[in-house]
Amino acid sequence: MNLILLGVPGSGKGTQAKLISKKYNIPHISTGDIFRTKSHKKVIAKYVTKGILVPDKIVLEIIEERISRPDCRSGFILDGFPRNINQAQSLDKYLNSKNKIINKVLYFKLPIQSAIKRLTARRICPICSKNYNLISEPPQKENICDSCNVSLTQRTDDTIKTVKKRLTVYTQNTKPLILYYKNQNKLRELNADKPVNNVFQSI
Ligand code: AMP
Repeated sequence: MNLILLGVPGSGKGTQAKLISKKYNIPHISTGDIFRTKSHKKVIAKYVTKGILVPDKIVLEIIEERISRPDCRSGFILDGFPRNINQAQSLDKYLNSKNKIINKVLYFKLPIQSAIKRLTARRICPICSKNYNLISEPPQKENICDSCNVSLTQRTDDTIKTVKKRLTVYTQNTKPLILYYKNQNKLRELNADKPVNNVFQSI
């Protein structure tokens, strides 16, 4: 099963992708996570910290290489890709050349105001990468990771100014993908404004 998770930043795609990946044993591919790794950080940081999209050419090269690896043979979960129509069309073209298709696109519906609240309250452990939310999922000790006992950090693009930019970029570039996949009859909508376990159940 080849899946795309679509939705505004903060709608819980990454969290749910990890759960789907574990349950069905197919890899979770997050372009955002790839860009945050050390090897990509230098070239890409100027886009990510401003909340703007990395050029398609760079993203497409990375994604094609990643989904051609053997662990993607029985499926993959794309999180944060595609992010505009050109990326979606290029992906379709690439998959077509490999006799593959996208089977389903899960669209995580979340009001923009909830996304702003979630993103600005998100904190991450720099060691184990566990995500916390200061409002809905706080650590036991203030700002300290429950497992690693170190101070939590905030993603450089989770500040209010950059969050607003990311949401504008989403509305202008990524939202049109809802119709793109609806027209292909692949879109399945789900209410992402619920606790993690409830969203996973509906998936
Ligand atoms: P995310 O973790 O998915 O919110 O992505 C963080 C940032 O990485 C985005 O704001 C973009 O700067 C960049 N990025 C991630 N995925 C893509 C993509 N498919 N196309 C372009 N830029 C991306």
